[in-house]
Amino acid sequence: MSTAAPVAPARALAPLLPLAVLGHDVRVPLATGGETTYAALDYAASAPALRRVWDDVAAYAPYYGSVHRGAGHLSQLSTRLFEDARATVARFLGCRPGDQVVFTRSTTDSLNLLAGALPRGCQVFVFETEHHAALLPWRGHGTVCLPAPRSHEQAVRTLDEALADRDRTRPALVCVTGASNVTGELWPVSALASVAHAHGARIVLDAAQLAPHRAVDITALDVDWVAFSGHKLYAPFGSGVLAGRADWLAEAEPYLAGGGASRQVVTREGGGGLDVVWHDGAARHEAGSPNVIGAHAIASACTALTEAGFDALAEREDALVRRVADGLAAVPGVRVLSLFGPGAPRVGVLSFVVAGWSGGRLAAALSAEYGIGVRDGLFCAHPLVRALVDGAAGECGGDAPSGAVRVSFGVGTPDEHVQRFVRAVGELVRRGARLDYVVEDGHWRPARGRG
Ligand code: PMP
Repeated sequence: MSTAAPVAPARALAPLLPLAVLGHDVRVPLATGGETTYAALDYAASAPALRRVWDDVAAYAPYYGSVHRGAGHLSQLSTRLFEDARATVARFLGCRPGDQVVFTRSTTDSLNLLAGALPRGCQVFVFETEHHAALLPWRGHGTVCLPAPRSHEQAVRTLDEALADRDRTRPALVCVTGASNVTGELWPVSALASVAHAHGARIVLDAAQLAPHRAVDITALDVDWVAFSGHKLYAPFGSGVLAGRADWLAEAEPYLAGGGASRQVVTREGGGGLDVVWHDGAARHEAGSPNVIGAHAIASACTALTEAGFDALAEREDALVRRVADGLAAVPGVRVLSLFGPGAPRVGVLSFVVAGWSGGRLAAALSAEYGIGVRDGLFCAHPLVRALVDGAAGECGGDAPSGAVRVSFGVGTPDEHVQRFVRAVGELVRRGARLDYVVEDGHWRPARGRG
């Protein structure tokens, strides 16, 4: 056997898992001329659809019908599909007997639903490092905002101390992320859950960034609820999930008032208003016609990811994370943002700043000159990014003139996209951008008439 063959450094990355995503061959124009294949490196915002999800949705589409409403065959079939999706999600999350799976629109929707179901007097404990979706729904509930911890141990200790001081006559909820949408770093979820429970509090896991990358088992983690979004889990059809304990949800007012949530509605004698008996169970919080395609898509993604195996997915992703981290470390002036320090385990999400560059200008140049899609700004986690980037300013939603740049990836990301990204950052920082960039309507863009 010849020993001359080069040892392929990409060996660990080579076996492409049986999961492909849509869009890996989309061509986009370059402002410098010509075109290239789009490198989608903004999975943390919205991941591309799994081909398997798309195919499953397409296969069902001709049979689409109303859920829980019609007597017809397709309505029955759609109702069964919707309820099967619920069961698939429950298995995916390792739900306990009696747990509810409620289909929502997104993680934001799920956490707002839970916020509306908190028992009277409930206090909420949350780290300031959370995404706004996990930070803001609790306002008005005596939220205790905990300072950014710099290690897992500090996070656990900070929560322990805060809960020890709390008024035990009030119910309490802790809300914590599984993986940060800014740093990608994993949080010590099960340790935080045991601290919460030791103090008689409950805990909800924001798994928006965790579920696409790691197995999330509600029983093993011993959390009370989990929330995630379909569009980050390769199922961009407008659905999300809140799963977990049934009791608070059963006692709460329905999230939306309307058909589907109501078991019986009667007019009071003499026209004095309406009496309503609400449903128990998930239906209580799913008023209106359910998004059966969204639920089916999420279930399809859950099945595909489970079959591929999270260990294998994480192993490949870890190799990509190392490539990006090593590549960025070699570029002068680059600082990768981290709460827990170098080497802390993270999913395929990294944010960084570059001395002398605004994040928006760098992201614009990556797009215009290299066909690479990343995100810049404060990532809807203003307190965290401000804490990590001195003086960062700007608004969530893309009109931030400064802030950081975030690169994120996952299933179906080709090695070439990551390599192109690392090369592009190096070239831009060392050699400078080829075009001039200006801020127009709050966004960095190539200046007209140049290049
Ligand atoms: N939590 C985290 C950690 C997130 O990254 C996001 C989305 N960026 C959300 C919550 C909100 O998710 P959605 O926009 O799907 O509601």
